[in-house]
Amino acid sequence: MKTEVVVIGGGATGAGVFRDLALRGLEVVLLEKADLTSGTSGRNHGLLHSGARYAVYDPDSARECFQENALIKKIAAPCLEETGGFFLSLPEDPPEYADTLLRACHSLGIPAKEVAVADVLHQETKLSPRVKRAIWVPDASVDPFRLIRANIEAGENLGGRVFLHRQVVEIFTARGKVTGVKAIDPRTGEEFKIQCHFLINAAGVWAGEIARLAGINLGILFSKGSLVVFNQRLVNAVINRCRPPANGDIFVPHGPTLILGTTSQTVAQVDDPFPEIEEVDLLLGEGEKMIPQTKETRVIRAYAGIRPLLGAREAEREAGPETPNASEADGRRLSRDFLLVNHGAQDQLRGFFSICGGKLTTYRLMAEKTVDAVMDEIGRKESCRTAEIPLPFPWEYSFHALEKKLLKIAQIPSANVPQEIVCECELVSKKEILQEVGKLGIFSLKELQERTRAGMGPCQGGFCAPRLTALLLETGKITAAEALTILKNFLEERWKGIRPVLWGPQLREEQLIQALYTEFFNLDRF
Ligand SMILES: Cc1cc2nc3c(=O)[nH]c(=O)nc-3n(C[C@H](O)[C@H](O)[C@H](O)COP(=O)(O)OP(=O)(O)OC[C@H]3O[C@@H](n4cnc5c(N)ncnc54)[C@H](O)[C@@H]3O)c2cc1C
Repeated sequence: MKTEVVVIGGGATGAGVFRDLALRGLEVVLLEKADLTSGTSGRNHGLLHSGARYAVYDPDSARECFQENALIKKIAAPCLEETGGFFLSLPEDPPEYADTLLRACHSLGIPAKEVAVADVLHQETKLSPRVKRAIWVPDASVDPFRLIRANIEAGENLGGRVFLHRQVVEIFTARGKVTGVKAIDPRTGEEFKIQCHFLINAAGVWAGEIARLAGINLGILFSKGSLVVFNQRLVNAVINRCRPPANGDIFVPHGPTLILGTTSQTVAQVDDPFPEIEEVDLLLGEGEKMIPQTKETRVIRAYAGIRPLLGAREAEREAGPETPNASEADGRRLSRDFLLVNHGAQDQLRGFFSICGGKLTTYRLMAEKTVDAVMDEIGRKESCRTAEIPLPFPWEYSFHALEKKLLKIAQIPSANVPQEIVCECELVSKKEILQEVGKLGIFSLKELQERTRAGMGPCQGGFCAPRLTALLLETGKITAAEALTILKNFLEERWKGIRPVLWGPQLREEQLIQALYTEFFNLDRF
């Protein structure tokens, strides 16, 4: 196969680069070693940053976030919710930080404003009455799964091609220039070769691995962040703690759920991150200081994501050998900005670019800068249009649509409701599932879940996974033998998220679900 550009990585950055390249008329192929969003893009808070969180310590990132926040609200409105956000000071927080934050935001043009605590407590009744000061910022929440798929669909509509389960294992070069890549299907070992003129490394925390295939060292360290998900929103705005960044200092309402994050721990291993029970305890202990009711609220899942720490090696060098874990101590203070490397200029390998770091919020800007660099190299002038053209959301999709969905269900004759609603927690209908099944290239429950939110509610797919599998089977998309593997793969992944939060009602429900699968379906015998 031949193409002009190969993009490695099906996360936010790769998807953004893919769409931008296609919009500027380049022939592009995206290779992803697993499913879309299987890296950090599927393991974050889903916060569309206003920039305020970085205003004090990382003003460049803050400025970029603020600009992109406004643009993403324009081009991707159906997959976000304009929740707004508050920074709240508790009595134990540094009293001067609220003023420092306000000054930093204003100097960057972020419209932060102090609001009366009584008004905030009236609006958000579950907040702690210990709040001393409150600052409003234009934070929002975003569905990363839909955002990324919309970028992919936009690129595909323009002729771009996406291949999932294609892991790049070799980079071909000749006379100081990239000429192609070899990829394998990790499930079968089958090999694929693609010739290209340009190669974009958007492999997130694996970007260093990709660069090493070309003999280049990117020198990135990693930090793991763990998060927990509650089964109800409790608040309708993003809630940040008004103090220097620390553990458990942010709540993001996400659809019908609430996400609490995060921890920051330097790690060497980037594959398959999982939260430790101690991290869950730490998050819950901090979180209840802002929202006391979280103590009694059901936690339905925990998960972890890895971020690359840019500048970590420099920080370690500056701290000296007597501070061996400088990057751990300062992980939150290191830049959350992005790194774009033209390896032609830096490493004498023309046609090869690496883009990593940054945030989900800044994915579009990162893509724009990357494609600008490619266009410069080619000597073509098409300018970026991703900030103006709205992303496609193919069916009547809206994030946090439970209320609307309830109204629709009220119109279905009650006898038909059980046949119509496949996922009761998220009120996902059979029609929505079938619409998405028709478009799937790869048949996995994770893919269906991320496209429709089916299985993302309190039972975490425990009850609807067999129904989703049956629908895939009924439509002839999978065979009976495949159905069992698909269901088991989903349950194994699901278990990883549920294991660290098994107590109270979640434990009771899990025992019921386990009995259902083992005693009724006999799934453990297959
Ligand atoms: C705990 C945590 C919370 C966060 N919260 C937020 C937030 O609320 N808001 C925000 O804006 N940002 C947030 N971020 C940052 C944000 O999630 C990331 O910056 C962003 O998702 C990175 O996207 P990416 O595409 O660069 O990387 P990834 O999403 O990791 O994508 C890289 C892809 O490359 C693929 N890949 C790797 N190697 C190969 C190979 N050899 N061949 C083919 N494919 C390969 C991987 O499978 C993966 O899918 C958070 C980060 C963390 C860790």
